[in-house]
Amino acid sequence: MRLPTALLGVAVSAALLVVPQSAQADPADPQPPAVRDFGNGPERNEVAAGLPEQAGTLRAPQAEKRPDPAWPSHGHGYPRQTRLPEPAENPADASIKLGLVPYHALAPRLNELQRRSDRVSVEVFGRSHQGRDMYLVTVTAPESAAEAREQARMRERIENDPASAARDRALAKRYKAPVFVNANIHGNEWEGTDGVLRTVEELATSTDPAVADLLSKTRLYFNVTANPDGRVLGQRPNGAGFDLNRDFITASQPETRAMRQLMTDTQPVAMVDLHGYVNGTLIEPTTPPHGANYEYDLFIKNTYANGLGMEAAVNGLGYTLEKDGVRPVQIPFRDDPEGWDDWPPIFTPQYAPFHGAVASHTVEIPLRVNNADYTNLPVEELRRRSAINTDVAAAAIRATYTFVHSRHQQLVADQIEVFRRGTAGEPAKEVPLGIVPGFGPEDVYTTTYPRAYVIPAGSGQRSETAAGRLVDHLIANDVRVERAERSFRVGRTTYPEGSYVVDMRQPKRGLANVMLEPGQDISPRVDAMYDISGWSHALLWGATVEPVDSLRVKADPVKAAAPTGSVPRTFGPLALKVGDAKEVMALNDLLAQGVEVTWGDGGTAVVPASARAAARTAADRYGVAFTPARRSGGTPLTQVRIAAAASADELYTLREMGFSVTPVSTQVLNDGFDWSATDVLFVSSGLNHAQLSPEARTALDAFLTTGGVVTRGGTGTSFNAAAGLLTVTGVAGRSDANGVVRTVVSDGSVGAGSPEHSFVYSPRWFTGLGPEVQVEQAYAAEGPLVSGHWRADQNGMGGPEQARGQAAVVSGRDERGAAVVMFGTEPMFRNHPKGLFPQVARALYWSSSVTGAAVTTP
Ligand SMILES: [Zn+2]
Repeated sequence: MRLPTALLGVAVSAALLVVPQSAQADPADPQPPAVRDFGNGPERNEVAAGLPEQAGTLRAPQAEKRPDPAWPSHGHGYPRQTRLPEPAENPADASIKLGLVPYHALAPRLNELQRRSDRVSVEVFGRSHQGRDMYLVTVTAPESAAEAREQARMRERIENDPASAARDRALAKRYKAPVFVNANIHGNEWEGTDGVLRTVEELATSTDPAVADLLSKTRLYFNVTANPDGRVLGQRPNGAGFDLNRDFITASQPETRAMRQLMTDTQPVAMVDLHGYVNGTLIEPTTPPHGANYEYDLFIKNTYANGLGMEAAVNGLGYTLEKDGVRPVQIPFRDDPEGWDDWPPIFTPQYAPFHGAVASHTVEIPLRVNNADYTNLPVEELRRRSAINTDVAAAAIRATYTFVHSRHQQLVADQIEVFRRGTAGEPAKEVPLGIVPGFGPEDVYTTTYPRAYVIPAGSGQRSETAAGRLVDHLIANDVRVERAERSFRVGRTTYPEGSYVVDMRQPKRGLANVMLEPGQDISPRVDAMYDISGWSHALLWGATVEPVDSLRVKADPVKAAAPTGSVPRTFGPLALKVGDAKEVMALNDLLAQGVEVTWGDGGTAVVPASARAAARTAADRYGVAFTPARRSGGTPLTQVRIAAAASADELYTLREMGFSVTPVSTQVLNDGFDWSATDVLFVSSGLNHAQLSPEARTALDAFLTTGGVVTRGGTGTSFNAAAGLLTVTGVAGRSDANGVVRTVVSDGSVGAGSPEHSFVYSPRWFTGLGPEVQVEQAYAAEGPLVSGHWRADQNGMGGPEQARGQAAVVSGRDERGAAVVMFGTEPMFRNHPKGLFPQVARALYWSSSVTGAAVTTP
């Protein structure tokens, strides 16, 4: 974990002391993703094992469809008051100790506010992983139904006909600028919520004419708590263990999907995301590198201006270092060379600009009250800090709506201009140096938009199932997708009828491109990155996606991908190639029904003719295509029961694919673990062989005579060595390196059918391979980094050059017969690289099916 030294020295040295590197459970596995906020919240591997919840349950696939637009409810004016269900009182809510409003008290407070003020409307707009309601508060002057319809029409015109909207003087005056305030997305950064409540109460009851004028020209949308599970539990992630502020381009979690829909529907011109804790209060804009797909000239102008306004408001509260322990505001763009960037669109304020926000900020309130401080500080001190933090959050909100009020027409015009450039297909604009003070060459990042992306149908598509998922994901992000009515040519390539087309002449082309372009290798340009630097959906989600530079096609817009499931007309056994996570789900569903499946070469399962009806249901349900099996035979496959010492995202992904997963850890094994219901042990986090008791080791050794092992990362590599499994030497690349890599795949049981690209975080590779070890996937001899950030260390080691041609994923049978697969890549990272999930599934199927059988090569 590397942090910007400038910020470190001033602001967070105390925070770092709480969790020094040496305190990590397993020094062999450097903690990969840095924690934004410098949060020392539960990091990736700490969230890991031991979650008893949902152990062994099958998770139904989540349909990636836009929910019914219950909101905004057309035909209604404002207020739109609904009485919120009030949850039972929970004395264990972590907010209570801080003197803040616990989750269960939010609904009563909001119900009361609706009763008192016709400026306040509240509705439930989503639910958390654990099923808690998410509350949207809209504060605006009352509107008749006709006025609300007019606002909706103007919003749609800004997006869909920006050139005419730009010329419409009446629109500029009459359109109420939408502002979005997001609070508490990290559950243990509480006071954003309390700042929102205070703001809403003030605006609801104020008799100030300036407030009346504000509410006649704006709609203020407040997500009261973006992470109700985390607020109650006093933890950073949601109830599934996911950091929601890393999830926006993946949208694996219901909270993220609800926020995505909210931003699409409300189209805010400005947004603030309230976090903690950095002292002095940190207010974006950010350092470089800057996201290359934003209209950055419009963005930086407004974001910097509002940042300065928030700074003045926060400093104006009068808190001082001497008196209160509060340092002055810092603005990374102005105050630091790098280390707090807006490169990946995984964070709320870095996602909102694609839906038209031209001022968008993370705000880190100052005084730490979470983690060790929550446990150790006296209650009075915690409450003193939380009161100050609430003041700061409210000041940032007030400054933002004041800013929008004062620049109302300009902000609306700039949002229109974002969509106009996209619709017109203009080239990316290079931002003029000095557009704001300090904007230099180091701040200039641009990209090239292709004319369109084609997601081919037919033989040019590596997975129709994956293509359908990607299309649905794009549509869920409000990206327009069309489907070709007949075949068309681009240059020498003919694309068949039914191919999907993402025309880049569209209002949200930035969002389309940030997901579909390969990305950039930014290693040469910056020393350190905050979080991930590569994510391309085109390269990691398993579908073939091709940029084209011309487009002549007759195509229709689609609202959802076409069905992809099929079963052949021929009778006889059916083959299912496990090349996509949906195929894994289908296979696990069949296995759960007791269908007698066999596992053949090249990652293909064979289903007997007698199970045809079940196969047809699975084909429809998961969108997978069965083909006639050339031959039956192969190894009998049963449901794979996994004991997993893994991070939260890996547990989630394994369960999502329908595997039966029991979380384990060093502690769980030392407590006496019953191995009799385990087929494969997955090790990536929280299991240290050296710390196992003699009894636990004996039990593990007994398991290894009958069970398989799949490992990932440094913890997995260490476990392999300590348990005496495969003969390999693990080599660690630089721990903060991450991104999309080019690879070469084998035709083995794990490698066959893999995409040519993979994702790495703290990349690893394997040398000194014993004769029993096969290479399933290797880093390409060229690159191998395609996009991301990966440098060699100070000694020239651990860089991408060293990884060239080296084994990234290996398999083999150890002396006891255990089938072992080792990943040096990150195939399930944050549930994102969907195209890589089936590699893990194939590793599990192969390992469970051949372990204990006679030793053959995989
Ligand atoms: Zn945060």
